Amino acid sequence: MKLSALALLCATQLTLVSAASQNTKRHFHVAHNNRRQAPTPSSSASSSSSSSSSSSSAASHVTTTTTTSVAVVTPPSVTIVSAATGTAAPPLSQITMGMPTRVPPVVTASFAVGASAPISGAPALPTHFVFQMNQWPQEDHIPDTNSPEVQEWLKELDGFNIPNLTPTTDGSCAGDIEAAAQAAQRGWWTCGGYTRSTDIVACPDKLTWGVSFDDGPGPYTQNLLDYLKTKNISATFFVVGSRVIERPNVLIEEYMAGHEISVHTWSHKPLTSLTNEQIVAELGWTRKAIRQVLGVTPTTMRPPFGDIDDRVRAISLAMGMVPIMWTRTPSGGVFDTNDWRVAAGQATGTQSFQTFQTILNNASTIDTGFIVLQHDVHEITVDLAVGYTLDAALTHNPPFNLKAIGQCTNTPATDMYFETTKNTTFPYSNRTTVDVDGDGKSETTKGAGKGNGAALTQSSILTVLFGAVVAASSSLILF
Ligand SMILES: [Zn+2]
Repeated sequence: MKLSALALLCATQLTLVSAASQNTKRHFHVAHNNRRQAPTPSSSASSSSSSSSSSSSAASHVTTTTTTSVAVVTPPSVTIVSAATGTAAPPLSQITMGMPTRVPPVVTASFAVGASAPISGAPALPTHFVFQMNQWPQEDHIPDTNSPEVQEWLKELDGFNIPNLTPTTDGSCAGDIEAAAQAAQRGWWTCGGYTRSTDIVACPDKLTWGVSFDDGPGPYTQNLLDYLKTKNISATFFVVGSRVIERPNVLIEEYMAGHEISVHTWSHKPLTSLTNEQIVAELGWTRKAIRQVLGVTPTTMRPPFGDIDDRVRAISLAMGMVPIMWTRTPSGGVFDTNDWRVAAGQATGTQSFQTFQTILNNASTIDTGFIVLQHDVHEITVDLAVGYTLDAALTHNPPFNLKAIGQCTNTPATDMYFETTKNTTFPYSNRTTVDVDGDGKSETTKGAGKGNGAALTQSSILTVLFGAVVAASSSLILF
């Protein structure tokens, strides 16, 4: 796939699928070490499997999950630097694709069934999640849209005007010239950074960094959680459904530690390229997985690769999920740590970090705070976060204030989940029940105060959706 600079953010990651799989065929031991890299569903899955088989670690029900859902591979020869685990990151100059890997941290369940949730009014921790393959879509694949669950969730779109936009070819500008030419009208973020007033795109307060981590829970997420705890920082985790069912214990650790949990789809495909039914399936299954593990249902989502347009927005909002992006300035600057580029072998840790320091310096010159893209699904990206990027923000002059996105936008913690929100305007719907399980029975009840405000009608959602274009630019992105 030929890429333009504008398409890099999403399309480059997509191209890596084939590159990574070729690596796997030729030199699997290299590919295994490269699990620090490939930000692709297939490699994530194989790395999970490898991790489980090569260590005594990770959540106990993970092993079963991964080995039943990914191709069986011969255990690779793993270069292990040290059996010790912890949050200490390697020297920056050593952080690069193919660097030796370390044993993932052991995640033990520290919270019992029935433990009190950290959110006021949220249900206690439910019975431990037990993976049953026949109850879930295939990991990292777009779920079947004919399932009873998806058919049930499609009813949530009733009464909402979903823009009749043809799905894009592959979610990239270069891959769909026709759609790219209509990017402004489509509100397509990927091509020009178009956003709508319903998108959360920045923290309002100057020098405030909205901390977020995508694509996990991963084998090394616990290292990140340990670091965040020592610094007393809360973050927002945009989790992939296929990873949630692999590492439910890690999700519990995130949630119970006070971090925010948000939906990042089931298979991590560019949503503008999917049909309405497929988008509903991607969001619905992830929402269901999170609720089964935590007992709560997020009211926010982030589209993979930031690939959103007015059709994806309308579907997300109709399902009660507010889109959260990462900040992109009018001049085209993107608050991307580029950690995924290092994991993908497109940059060294040193190069990535130098670029990011430039962004940080620029950040102190804008009038608002900002939301930053980082990833917790790979060892490399966790190393960059705990060793470098977060410290750089904390020690910057002037220092940045690091907060979870709900916190930095002054969103009450209770608004972040269906079960606890009492807000009648967030997530822009007054629906009082949602059938998260998709079994035809609405079992989720929102907070007592919910539903007394104005409904988000077709006309009002259109007004919201087609309001101000917050950040539109035809400039090239930085990377
Ligand atoms: Zn992602």
